[in-house]
Amino acid sequence: MRLILVGPPGAGKGTQAVHLAEHYQIPHISTGDIFRANLQNGTPLGLKAKSYMDKGELVPDSLTNEMVKDRLAKDDAKSGFLLDGFPRNVSQAEVLNAMLAEVGVLLDAALELSLDNEEIVKRLSIRGRDDDKEEIIRRRLEVYGEQTAPIISFYRDANLLVTIAATGEISDITAAAIAALSKKLS
Ligand code: AMP
Repeated sequence: MRLILVGPPGAGKGTQAVHLAEHYQIPHISTGDIFRANLQNGTPLGLKAKSYMDKGELVPDSLTNEMVKDRLAKDDAKSGFLLDGFPRNVSQAEVLNAMLAEVGVLLDAALELSLDNEEIVKRLSIRGRDDDKEEIIRRRLEVYGEQTAPIISFYRDANLLVTIAATGEISDITAAAIAALSKKLS
């Protein structure tokens, strides 16, 4: 299973990614987690990413694409992966296609977790991560709408999009995702 997850900040991508990766026995690759780990370890990549993350902006594609390419080249990602937080814009989506084409594989699906704006703001304001301050939340939502949401049409056009509602119990959302993906891939 080669899967990407897309959805607004606060849709629960990280949580669902953990459950789905376990179900499909594939590595969960979160670009946000990799950036945060680099930040914590004080690496040059972490230092470069920090100023963008602090503002709610996307880290430049040049840094992000290279990091994903390195991660996907690892052995555990050879037969499948779940990408959480990448791609974040159409250019990254095109780069991902090219990376996969190079090794002769295709994505199986793009799973969209959908959530309305009111619910997003409510959830983010109780999460309390460093980049969850109100004005940064607002900026991250704008960035999502302007840069990331267009990838939904990109994957719809590629006939890879599977959309589920990201409301209700965590386990019900996971079950709905697995059911929708089975239907799509059958
Ligand atoms: P996340 O944990 O996915 O919400 O990501 C946290 C932050 O990391 C984002 O607000 C961005 O600054 C950065 N980030 C994560 N993934 C990407 C990506 N694919 N492209 C650019 N920046 C990213």
